[in-house]
Amino acid sequence: MTILEIKDLHVSFKTYGGEVQAVRGINLTLNKGETLAIVGESGCGKSVTAQSIMRLLPKTTTKITSGEIQFKGQDLLKISDKKMRSVQGNDISMIFQDPMTSLNPTLSVGTQLTEGIRKHTSISAQGARKKALEMLQVVGISNGEERLKQYPHEFSGGMRQRLMIAMALICEPDVLIADEPTTALDVTIQAQILALFKEIQERTGVAIILITHDLGVVAQLADRVHVMYAGKIVETSNRRELFYQSEHPYTRGLLNSIPRLDDVRGELLPIAGTPPDLFSPPPGCPFSPRCQYAMDVCRDHMPASTDVSPSHTAACWLLDPRAKQVFKDLA
Ligand code: SF4
Ligand code: MG
Repeated sequence: MTILEIKDLHVSFKTYGGEVQAVRGINLTLNKGETLAIVGESGCGKSVTAQSIMRLLPKTTTKITSGEIQFKGQDLLKISDKKMRSVQGNDISMIFQDPMTSLNPTLSVGTQLTEGIRKHTSISAQGARKKALEMLQVVGISNGEERLKQYPHEFSGGMRQRLMIAMALICEPDVLIADEPTTALDVTIQAQILALFKEIQERTGVAIILITHDLGVVAQLADRVHVMYAGKIVETSNRRELFYQSEHPYTRGLLNSIPRLDDVRGELLPIAGTPPDLFSPPPGCPFSPRCQYAMDVCRDHMPASTDVSPSHTAACWLLDPRAKQVFKDLA
């Protein structure tokens, strides 16, 4: 069952140098209880997409030029600020890479943890406290009673991220958006936090949108994956097909650039070149300046999304049925 749907979203930034087209017509469907990863290099538009859902983009410098974000029968881009605040507190929560940016250093953990639920429901102070203790347990923070009296600086990095997760989940949202949730953590803590996400999802059925540049995180957590490049989704598939049967040259490049345990040479092959300038994106395939397979058609015309399997699409001219004919003719 679809719980959230983005249709043809376009977002641009106003800068001194001109308008940057950060998100260029993306479509996304999130199903109940699944983890959908949005993966890509920094600047590909993945965080901007997340922030559009939460309506966190600064109004003075960003413009959502077109599109819809459908959630529970309403377009989140059209509802009032007041309604949106209620969605943000109750229905969709977000956690960020650096927990300290969202925690208030001057308020006790107990106050911060119960703030949301008290604002959005008519729960009593005692009820909220009970719920907060429960949540600390869920995220694996022991000594709850003591912990509630402490302040964020008394928590380690990993514990702060657990605390953020507790804050995000206390109102039992339907959707949790996690933007690079483990990037700032060391590997051991990262694995613990990813395991925690899985456990919480099994328990609560929350749907997760996971924003990451890290294919290792995708491998551990995602059910389905969107690969973004230069403001567009270039490949969509389930996790298995992404790792074993990816079709888009950019996705393959990403996969070649991660370390593999079975590769004794340990050689990494970074993708040569840089993403295109989004002040004036190329008219054709955004990956064409870096793609070793680029053809003339790639540079001038945007490839359409082609179905690879019922659960897999990719936007590349090599997959176009007409290309197959050309290759056949050449053979
Ligand atoms: Fe490469 Fe062309 Fe496919 Fe783009 S459309 S990824 S340039 S082959
Ligand atoms: Mg980001």
